[in-house]
Amino acid sequence: MILMKDIVREGNVVLKQVAKEVELPLSLEDKETICEMMNYLYDSCDEETCKEYDLRPGVGLAAPQIGVSKRMFVIAAPNEKGQFFELAIINPKIISYSDELTYLPGGEGCLSVDREVTGLIHRPYKIRVQGYVYDFDKNDAFLQTFTLKGYLAVVFGHEFDHLNGTLFVDRINKDNPFFVPENSKPIKFN
Ligand code: ZN
Repeated sequence: MILMKDIVREGNVVLKQVAKEVELPLSLEDKETICEMMNYLYDSCDEETCKEYDLRPGVGLAAPQIGVSKRMFVIAAPNEKGQFFELAIINPKIISYSDELTYLPGGEGCLSVDREVTGLIHRPYKIRVQGYVYDFDKNDAFLQTFTLKGYLAVVFGHEFDHLNGTLFVDRINKDNPFFVPENSKPIKFN
């Protein structure tokens, strides 16, 4: 079970590294890592488990955040309509993205960043992605191409950044942290 003590924090060199491509077919070890990462997200959104193990709730977790410098991450999050979305992806690529941007009005957070950070991060509103999606029933990963919009595109972008050694804090405009470009609209949850 992944606990907060296992999550690598800001300042650790692994968070600055460009993670390595994962070898396919997946090794047993990589499969276990993916399952453990997804379990963390579920545990962290269960009130009792969260309290018992002192977990910080998260909607995404990338392998470098547990000290594994490999290109894979998991997401378990609702979209703006409250529909639940789950994804475990290996060697992801963003193959195209919209000019239109979006941002979380309250800013982003990260399990690897403990300090309070203020400022906005603008990311593409819509992204087309490709990668090996892990199927938890079949215990294997399959190449898929799909589109994400809004909040899920933001979460994907945040996790994808972890694979390239970028934290959300690196993306905040230091001179004008609350600047909103003309082509960026806030995420609205219904
Ligand atoms: Zn993060």
